[in-house]
Parts: sequence; C-alpha cells; structure tokens
Amino acid sequence: MVNFSPTMTLFEQFERHINPGLAGLLRFTGLDRVESHAEGVYVWDTEGKRYLDFLGLYGTLSLGHRHPKVVAAVERQLGRMPMSVRVLVSEPTTRLAARLAELAPGPLSMVYFGNSGAEGVEAALKFARFYTGKPGFITTEGGYHGKTFGALSVTPREAYQAPARPLLPGVKVVPFGDAQAVAQAIDSDTAAVIVEPIQGEGGIRVPPEGYLRELRRMTQERGVLLIADEVQTGLGRTGKLWAVDWEGVEPDILVSAKALGGGVMPISATLARPEILTIYKDQPLIHSSTFGGNPLAAAAALAALEVIVEEGLPERALEMGACLVQGLLELQRAFPEFIQEVRGRGLMLGLEFTDADIGAVVVAELAARGVITAFGLNNPKVVRLEPPLIVERVHIEEALAALAGALEATRVAFEGVL
Ligand SMILES: *Cc1c(COP(=O)(O)O)cnc(C)c1O
Repeated sequence: MVNFSPTMTLFEQFERHINPGLAGLLRFTGLDRVESHAEGVYVWDTEGKRYLDFLGLYGTLSLGHRHPKVVAAVERQLGRMPMSVRVLVSEPTTRLAARLAELAPGPLSMVYFGNSGAEGVEAALKFARFYTGKPGFITTEGGYHGKTFGALSVTPREAYQAPARPLLPGVKVVPFGDAQAVAQAIDSDTAAVIVEPIQGEGGIRVPPEGYLRELRRMTQERGVLLIADEVQTGLGRTGKLWAVDWEGVEPDILVSAKALGGGVMPISATLARPEILTIYKDQPLIHSSTFGGNPLAAAAALAALEVIVEEGLPERALEMGACLVQGLLELQRAFPEFIQEVRGRGLMLGLEFTDADIGAVVVAELAARGVITAFGLNNPKVVRLEPPLIVERVHIEEALAALAGALEATRVAFEGVL
C-alpha cells in the first residue's frame, strides 16, 4: 500500500495499535489530526492548524502548555538527577511534600506521591482502611475517581464498571449534593466518604451551599474519614487554591494530581493527617511506588506551586471565569433551544446542552473553528470548558466567537429536526 500522507499513516497506526473506538470519536469531532507542539493556551497540529485549548487536558494545564518556569525547573533537575535511587532522600520530593503540607487545607502534614490521579485515589482508599480497620466506602452518583480497580470501584458508572467486575465490595452510592443520604448510608463498616467538591466528569456539578460542611460535620461525628478528591478542582481551578476552601472544610485526606505537575510532568499527591499514616512507623513499605514523586516530577510541581501562588492563579480563575460566564450566558439567551444551563466555578465551567447529540455537534463545530473542548466522561450532555488559568481576555473573546459560530452552524444542521 502506498502512503500518500504521513499524518494519516500515524492516525491509522493509532487506530490499529492504540484505540479504534477513540479514533472513531476523534474522526467524528474532526480531531483526527496529529499534534505537533504547544505553547501557553495554543496547540498546533502537524498540518499547521492552530487550536485554542479550552479543555486543558481536563484541568491539567492550569499553567498552560510549557510554562517557562516549570520547563526550566525540569531542565535543571534533568541535568542533575531525574530519578531517585530511593535509598537516599530526594531533595525536590521532600521539599515538595513540605510545601504541600504548608498549602494544605488543615493539618494534612503527610504526603504520599503517585503518578496519576487514580493512583492518588488508590492510596487514599488504602490509607482509610489502614487507619479505620474498616472496609466500606461511600461515593456519589456521577462521581469520577479514576479507572484502576479501587478508584473504579468508587466511580459508579455502569459502562466502566460492568465489564471489570468483581470490584471492591462494600461501596455504597448516594446522590451527589445530598448530605442526608450520606448520613443514612454510614454504618459500622464505613471507612470513608469520598467526594469531589465539584464533580468534573459528572458534568461540572456544583453541590448546594453547605454540602461539604455538612459532610465534614457528620463524618466527624460518626468517626468516618472524609476524602476530598481535588484531582481536578485543586490548585486554583475553581477560584480558591482548594475547592474545599470555599466552605472552609478540612478533609482528613486530600488527593491532588492533574495540575500539580505544572502541565509538564505527571504526578499525584495524597495528603493526610499524620495519625492516618502512623502505620508507616511499623511498616514503612506498606504502600510505595517506584516512580511516584520522582525528582523530575517533584521539581515540576515545586515550580508549578510557586507560579500558582506568585501569579495569583486562583484569583485569575475567578476573574477570567466571570468574564467567560458572562459571554456564555449571552449565548444561552441567543440559543435557548440548545443551551440548558451554564454552570461551574472559576474556570471549571460546563455548558449543559438540551441533548447529548447537540453537544457532540457543537464540540465538532468548535474543533473546526480551532477550539478544543470535550464532553464529560460521565455526562455527555455537558461540554466542559477548562482553559488554562493563564488565559487572557482576548482568548476568551476568541473562544466565545467560535462558540457563537459553532452554535449557529448547529442550528442550521438541526433545522427541521428539532
Ligand atoms: C481525572 C480524575 C481522576 C483520575 O486521574 P487520572 O490521572 O486520570 O488517573 C480522579 N479524580 C478526579 C476528580 C479526576 O478528575
């Protein structure tokens, strides 16, 4: 066979060797292209087309692509020691743990490092069992905590769970936003309640005011741990450093990941109150990872935390988020037959469409206009907007103009159908 286009060859290889179904989805949304390079809020494909990245790797790219301070920190560490020998103490890893403890909401002074959000959640679940000696977990409908076995067990989406069963036993699922339902679900076997302060993959669902405070109060009263999954909400995304800060809540365990590596390296951190990890005194190797918190990733995270604090990215998320919401609400008024709701906090925003098919067409039309977005894994009616927190007004105007065009095209496409 003669290959006319090297790009198609690579896409075909992706389809054959990595994921045929995903290749189909990418084709549908017109994103069957090969990425080339990226900087700040922009990505280029190998054909030279430029995209405004309003998905930001699901909230990972808070600092944008290739933030110079993070890249420089990684380059410095690369020239010194990218990997830890583990039988000596790593400086960047240890400094990162101490810095996270300083920034944590409450006395979460111990840190376990992994390489992904799911690994961070696995650690949180195990730590809760170690400490309480109990097996059970309570999770919420629409919650997303990752796809490894433990994390998947508390991610109640039938399509992901069914082919993987049996999963962890003893997981109860309650409606999100309903503190009373959690109170009723807690029993003598419950180790912990795990919750996202704002559901991400579930479709940017913001719980009622006071929900987290109420969860904190009742878990404390019943001797159950509260695990805040801030993998997506954390590090400024919602307009505060941690989303639990909105209600002044101090969880027992907090999981951070996505944005922690500054958009350059993968890393997760599971923060816990020190008494939860007393098990390390007797069993120092009870839970460990070869790569977790390696010096290269830790250097990236230290630089990322510095940028987030110094450049006031949480405040920026609030300011730019308000600007984006204003434009989205105007579009909702212009396209009420498509946009059911605009919601979220800071720069963690969702557009709920009246129908999942409409959302899919809008995502495709946006891609054609050079704007990257996606729908929620657990809720395809909702298109997520999670641009880098360094986004500027001009980028927001550019995205809103593209969205207006995409909605107009969708209106034409659906004319006579609705
Ligand atoms: C993305 C995500 C995870 C899983 O993180 P991975 O790095 O994809 O394993 C867990 N919890 C939440 C809230 C997430 O958004």
